[in-house]
Amino acid sequence: MKRLLLCILAVLVLLTSCQTASKNIEPDENGLFTSYVFDTSEDSGKLTARYLALKAVYIGSQDKINAGDCTVYTSPEGLVMMVDCSNRNSFDEIDQQLQMMGVTDIDIFVMSHPHADHIGCLAQLARKYPIHQVYKNNQVYDSVTYREAMDYILENNIPCTVLYEGDSFMFGEQVKVDVFNPPTGLGEWANQNTASSNNCSLALKLTYGDSSFWTSGDLYMDGELRVVEKYGDAIDSDVMKMNHHGYETSNNKNFIAAISPEVVVGMHESITSQTVAMMYSLKYKALTFYNCQDGAVRVSTPGDGTYDVQCQMLREKTFYGEPAANCHYTISNAADMKAAE
Ligand SMILES: [Zn+2]
Repeated sequence: MKRLLLCILAVLVLLTSCQTASKNIEPDENGLFTSYVFDTSEDSGKLTARYLALKAVYIGSQDKINAGDCTVYTSPEGLVMMVDCSNRNSFDEIDQQLQMMGVTDIDIFVMSHPHADHIGCLAQLARKYPIHQVYKNNQVYDSVTYREAMDYILENNIPCTVLYEGDSFMFGEQVKVDVFNPPTGLGEWANQNTASSNNCSLALKLTYGDSSFWTSGDLYMDGELRVVEKYGDAIDSDVMKMNHHGYETSNNKNFIAAISPEVVVGMHESITSQTVAMMYSLKYKALTFYNCQDGAVRVSTPGDGTYDVQCQMLREKTFYGEPAANCHYTISNAADMKAAE
């Protein structure tokens, strides 16, 4: 009798776990899963990252402005932290996506570094969505975009804190954010070239219980390798954004190995390097997404090392892995998976 009860119990457990795994998700009339990506009704108690899908903008017949980065994190208690806000022409797209999430304020805004494809619409954004705290690196950049952003921050008395490696801050009560780059002691960088600015990108690891997210702007390989050499496995994270829009200037194999991500997102209007895509997906076996093919991507976790991923678009090219039919993926305990390897 006891045995029979145990069998019934086992079957019930199996049935319930099957039910949770195969969520009933249907595309909208355009074949998109937009509402599932931006629905925040199940975010409570979870740390969630939404990697917004932004397009390149063409000004006149020739000038193309590349889509930059914009990631929106929400804390278990519903605070909003945005890392970067793409270029000045991305505001309408960002605005639409924030509206779908029901965002009214931005509790924390992080400027990964001062390039125009990362802080381009900061002032526009702040006019509509009050920003309560800004974190930035220490580079004083010589550009109109940077000056406009800083003018707005100063004129509106938005608290603004410069971060270096070794610093940390709390995103709500339960999510700790540790800073791994840039290094201290460099002062205000005199050198304004692209590589120097990119190498000064803030590198952040968000930790919530057993779950972790990594983001480090446009860090180049020499910056990546400095971080790996200094911090080793401490940078290990389950979810990450590719550095520098997935270009081969960045995403060094030793850096990827040290992070050893389960989920990676490339943010750009195209796949910038198939070599980088293959490295993440084939060599390091990470679920690999690109905004240009998968649309916006939501990754959420209750803090136990499990993740729920929902993409907006079903991608056509599958050279780096078959997409799930409903663009929905679940990742069981990432720490256990790593231990089993
Ligand atoms: Zn960039």
